[in-house]
Amino acid sequence: MAKIGLYQVDGTKYQGIPFPNLALMQISSYHKNKGDTVEWYKGLMFAHEYEKIYASKIFSFSPMPEIPENMIIGGTGIDFTNVLPAEIEQQPIDWEIYPNTPFHYGFSMKGCRYKCTFCCVPKKEGNPRAYNTIDRILTNPSGGKNLMLLDNDFFGNSEKKNSENNWRVNIERIIELDLKVCFVQGLNIRNITSEQATYLTKCNYRNSKFNKKYVTFAWDRWIDGKAIRNGIERVINAGIPGENMQFFILIGYDTTPEQDLERVETLKSMGCKPFVMPYNRENRYQKDFARWVNNRIVFNSCSWQEYNKMPKKVNVNQMVLEL
Ligand code: SF4
Repeated sequence: MAKIGLYQVDGTKYQGIPFPNLALMQISSYHKNKGDTVEWYKGLMFAHEYEKIYASKIFSFSPMPEIPENMIIGGTGIDFTNVLPAEIEQQPIDWEIYPNTPFHYGFSMKGCRYKCTFCCVPKKEGNPRAYNTIDRILTNPSGGKNLMLLDNDFFGNSEKKNSENNWRVNIERIIELDLKVCFVQGLNIRNITSEQATYLTKCNYRNSKFNKKYVTFAWDRWIDGKAIRNGIERVINAGIPGENMQFFILIGYDTTPEQDLERVETLKSMGCKPFVMPYNRENRYQKDFARWVNNRIVFNSCSWQEYNKMPKKVNVNQMVLEL
């Protein structure tokens, strides 16, 4: 029986604690099923106590930890194309290592129909494919009615490819079970159909804290403006008001400051909530612009020109993610 250490190097925070890490949860199940003891890694001084330590690093910008000889480090922060070995990927997720997490969590599908050049999903996961049924994701004893889906292209999970696990079956199940659902990675609005938007209106869609009713989309590429505006109209016509739509806005990749301003002001004029994601968190303009937009009180009370003239202390890592 071996002693195994798990180490979550970084991750998005949820109410002050890191989001559950699916890879570590599956590694935990794999080793427990083999009869091994699994615990959180206690740090470098205790590294010799473990037969193996698995570390997961999601972000490329977070500091690299010290790596003892018996540590395996992986995750998108190390290599975009990192995947788990098949025998671990098939394991159920172990909720014992994240007790009291107040939601279920997982993928109903993987992959994406788009190929945005700044994104690792198409390279890592390829075209959309079915992954898990909704019922198979509902495994957390503390999850209640809250479901957080990590899908990157929920509506890309086509009925033509899989008749038992596809967007229609999954959204009907979400509605039938009366789940609060958070599409935390955002939904594609460029090609959402009126039928899909109507299904959305029947869902109890939520932010990541499950305390506000809105659904997240993205407008990352300025050139998608027409498709985005048409998509918003379809969603509004289906019955979801602009104020219930949040948009991730990537800045600093291939857009100008004028195009950034145009996107956030267009969304504001349609009643939607933009949320800016800087491509380079160290860039002064990107930090300032994100700070202005993401503080909704400030965004709604002064223009970018006015905000830009103000003295400010900016730490982009302090931005409150209102997903
Ligand atoms: S639509 Fe989203 S998930 Fe798909 S490639 Fe673009 S950024 Fe990535």
